[in-house]
Amino acid sequence: MSNFSNTVIDNIQDKLKEVSDFLWDNPETAFSETKSAAYLCKVLCEEGFTVEEGLADIATAFSGSFGNGKPVIAFLGEYDALSNLAQEAGVMEKGDDKGCPGHGCGHNLLGAGSLGAAIAVKRYLEQTKSPGTVVFFGCPGEEGGSGKAFMARDGVFDGVDVAFTWHPQSENKVNVNLNLANCQILYKFNGISSHAGTQPHLGRSALDALELMNVGVNFLREHMPMTARIHYAITNTGGFSPNVVQSHAEVLYLIRSADLSDLAELRERVDNIADGAALMTGTTVEKQLIKACSNAVTNHTLLSVLYDKMQEIGAPVPTEEDLSFASEFTKKALSQYKAANAEHPIRYDILPYNGTNVQSYGSSDVGDVSWVCPTAQITTATYPLGAPGHSWQKTSYGKSNLAHKATLYAAKVLAAAAIEVMENEEILEKAKQEHKERTSPDGYICPIPKGVVPKAIDKI
Ligand SMILES: [Zn+2]
Repeated sequence: MSNFSNTVIDNIQDKLKEVSDFLWDNPETAFSETKSAAYLCKVLCEEGFTVEEGLADIATAFSGSFGNGKPVIAFLGEYDALSNLAQEAGVMEKGDDKGCPGHGCGHNLLGAGSLGAAIAVKRYLEQTKSPGTVVFFGCPGEEGGSGKAFMARDGVFDGVDVAFTWHPQSENKVNVNLNLANCQILYKFNGISSHAGTQPHLGRSALDALELMNVGVNFLREHMPMTARIHYAITNTGGFSPNVVQSHAEVLYLIRSADLSDLAELRERVDNIADGAALMTGTTVEKQLIKACSNAVTNHTLLSVLYDKMQEIGAPVPTEEDLSFASEFTKKALSQYKAANAEHPIRYDILPYNGTNVQSYGSSDVGDVSWVCPTAQITTATYPLGAPGHSWQKTSYGKSNLAHKATLYAAKVLAAAAIEVMENEEILEKAKQEHKERTSPDGYICPIPKGVVPKAIDKI
């Protein structure tokens, strides 16, 4: 049935391009995606989906569903941007971002592509009058917010049989990555302010505590599992004057581990270091969990279906103009990146798939969905090789012909795979069985406790 979905996607390609460009033109950071969410909801309503807004008490989380009964196939859409990455489209030199956000991770494409897949499956259900439900989930705050983890905690994905999604990248492939679980903790140190020259003995420096914590964590790094990662950003130094003992200082830690139990162990060690730093300096420390997400559970039953569809449909071949633009872009904007190649700037083949997982060191809140139901993802080549993640270069490329074409390809593959699953009960059962085995014995345990609420983030 990929002919059916291919035709639908081809027929609505202008619409999908419009959606992607609207999101690109209105970049909004985590949990502030009001224009983007409203626009996507409007399109879903126009297409005849039943729209539900405010999922999991998040204003910019929503769903659009169509159909009846089982199976329930979900497409995950993202639309959040990153701070300070605004660029003009197609520029080859970094411009002035004017402190505004931009789509440096391509979530404008991601949202439009998943939406296209949902529309194609809806039209299939209408035409064939088959049983089944298609749901487009509008998932906000992936960047720094783990919106899907909050949604999963509140049961939004319960009842979903299979979820598909994708991500813009520089390669066409099924995603076999074992992403890491992570959590983000804000450590707030509080001390006593005083004049640094005349009364230093009365001061208790929160900034000293923060620095000692970072030194302690730097020593910890030697003694943690190879797959773990710890990163930090100092978000509040406590002031600008060296002549004042700083009474407040804040550091945001991002801790990553292979799975949630390793993560809990590592977090405890980092917490202990923070406590030690506070003790050494006579200050206090407050720890605030901002967000967390789970490691990814792959599903090779579904990945095989996606791979077959990628082959069957065929990756888009760039035009001469796509290639010459990409080559010039590579020379001017990507020369410092090893994987960039001005001779062959675009990789448009489909990477082989052999059914094995690959350890990856990034994280995504798709991980939480993958613990709730069988979930599978692909990437398509929307950018030239070497374009770094979360960059002005990706922002600049987000309205290009290549990006639009690869988005349509992603939509076609996801839709065709979903229809295959809807038509073939055996695949669905096998995917569920595999999911059960990979998530045994405990199943999904959300890493975000009840009571923690999503935090709008304007610096990410
Ligand atoms: Zn992303």
